Amino acid sequence: MRVRSGLVAVVAVSAVVSLNLSAPANTATAVEVGGKPVPIVGPSPTAGDAIASANVTLTPGALRAAVSGRVLVPDANPAVITVNGHPVGLDTPVHRNDRVEVTPGTDSVEPVDERRVVGTAPGLPRVETSLWNPGRPRVDTQTVGRVSGEVVSTALTEVGVPARPETGRVVALTFDDGPDPKFTPAVMAILAEEGVKATFCVLGSAARRHPDMARAQIAAGHARCNHTVDHAHLPRLSPEGLTKQINGASDILTELDGTPPTIFRPPYGELSPQAIAAAQRAGMRVLTWNVDSDDYRKLAADKLLAKVMSAVKPGGVILLHDGGGDRTETVAALRPLIRALKAQGYTFATPTPAP
Ligand SMILES: [Zn+2]
Repeated sequence: MRVRSGLVAVVAVSAVVSLNLSAPANTATAVEVGGKPVPIVGPSPTAGDAIASANVTLTPGALRAAVSGRVLVPDANPAVITVNGHPVGLDTPVHRNDRVEVTPGTDSVEPVDERRVVGTAPGLPRVETSLWNPGRPRVDTQTVGRVSGEVVSTALTEVGVPARPETGRVVALTFDDGPDPKFTPAVMAILAEEGVKATFCVLGSAARRHPDMARAQIAAGHARCNHTVDHAHLPRLSPEGLTKQINGASDILTELDGTPPTIFRPPYGELSPQAIAAAQRAGMRVLTWNVDSDDYRKLAADKLLAKVMSAVKPGGVILLHDGGGDRTETVAALRPLIRALKAQGYTFATPTPAP
């Protein structure tokens, strides 16, 4: 028994000595990183420790744009780390003589999507002053980078049909600045009795006060036109102001009954290139007029009638008002006006909504 105890003691001592020889200081492990031996420190070393010790940079690959190749996401594709040929993370423990390899991330190109782009019909003016047959828009299929939006290719899908001005004896009655609780119902009653569809260029603020009237216009088959929220002077507005007045009115009207306006009429007929662009971006054609009834001057009904009848022509867009003041004379002139136009062979149309 005594002899055997002594032997155990010797073996134990030699084991301690051997450990001290192979792991001096704090170096716990030696691994290969990229084929070079690297000592690493600490009680439970990881792949990340080994890579740091070897001063190897984890270079990610970028996501690049489909056309320009510019970098969209610099670190989209991380470097790949393997230990003994198996992909691992930075936190994976490593052991003596493990082989750690680092492969830089490769660059990739963003995926592309196809989209249908509906243009405007060729020939339609940016500002319509009379009735137009809007033709049919050209349709393209574009391939675009999903992240960058860069256009990779454009293919013509449907040929457009050019717009052309209305030359027949057709006119449009347009009523601005409503809805008004007194005059709008009076105008709508006459239109219904005469079987005429008109265009109501409504103010967002007035539609908010009288939502039932704005809904009734659509229910009766009249066309909806955006006339801003507050009858704003558009050329005075900042880009943010244009959005508030133009998109704001479209939002109010769309919320009423799900019918977004496709026509925009600038208050006072005042426009700027920015205002036109803002209306078009909001999905509307810009419509002014070419026959002014001057009813805003409170002309007597007979003078108002005479003024319109002297100016009217095929494709005419007639400016009237059902709100924004006392429209008694407009209401009084409306039935005689419709009958006088009918007597001259005119029919009534609304500007065809953009497809
Ligand atoms: Zn107005």
